[in-house]
Amino acid sequence: MFESQIAALLAQTWTSRLLVFAYHRIVPKPDSMLQGEVTAAAFDSQTGWLARHATVLTLPDAIERWRRGKLPRRAACITFDDGYLSNFETALPILQRWQVPATFFIATGFLDGGRMWNDTIIEATRRTSVAAFDLSDYGLGRVAIDAERPVLADQLLDALRRLPYDQRERCVAAIATQSRVDLPNDLMMTSEQVRQLARLGMDLGGHTETHPILARLPADAARAEILLGKENLAQIVGAAPRTFAYPNGVPGKDYLVEHVAMVREAGFEAAVTTAFGGVAADDDALQLPRVIPWDQRAAAFARRAAQASRSPPGERL
Ligand SMILES: [Zn+2]
Repeated sequence: MFESQIAALLAQTWTSRLLVFAYHRIVPKPDSMLQGEVTAAAFDSQTGWLARHATVLTLPDAIERWRRGKLPRRAACITFDDGYLSNFETALPILQRWQVPATFFIATGFLDGGRMWNDTIIEATRRTSVAAFDLSDYGLGRVAIDAERPVLADQLLDALRRLPYDQRERCVAAIATQSRVDLPNDLMMTSEQVRQLARLGMDLGGHTETHPILARLPADAARAEILLGKENLAQIVGAAPRTFAYPNGVPGKDYLVEHVAMVREAGFEAAVTTAFGGVAADDDALQLPRVIPWDQRAAAFARRAAQASRSPPGERL
């Protein structure tokens, strides 16, 4: 589709809705082990497209204007979940080139050398030269390393997601040990890099301490995760975060009504989910839907934005 046709399509559809785009990491080049992640080239074209066709705001700024009914036409926010180093090394220079702000939701427990469990699985599977993982202690049997590595990693991630938290942690540790490789400890940002993002005018948001699925935790533990993540981030950047992203973020599955109340009580002004859609006037500020831009081409990205801008209200509790 030509740029002018896209612009015409959006002129009709994307008017009043706020579109909040959700990224995780930005990969410098295509990576078969990280197929769902957006490449630097695609992120550059998507950001450039937003810079030319939309008004990109920080999430707190957009929400303030949304509350007053004063959103500009085609208002957009760019968000990153988790705190990956590639946000700083790869995405930041692109954001700066296009002079647009973004919100970074940080799971503070992994800063400064930590690693999320899914990355332990992905990197152990990518790098190992052993013939199999023996996971019989966890009900998963002997897993031969003979299939395509990306397929194998996906299967392991699926199986481990279903395990209870403690058992999953032990199984991840077993895979790390059995892989007999040195796993990377530089996948996430340092505290200093997070501070630099704040200094550059970027918004830093809460994403809990260790990224648990809140719906699977006892209420006290869920509340403690939300609060600790907030306090740690406040300590690092010197100001309390105003925005929050629910880990995994599916309404009714990953978080429940009680967690929305906890996020409100913790003092957050806005929170985002992974429900698809554009933010309408009557949405809940603590359950804002987002747009996941998995499309690598600018035209497909624009079509997805158009779809979100006229979607029914995002699913919420
Ligand atoms: Zn996350």
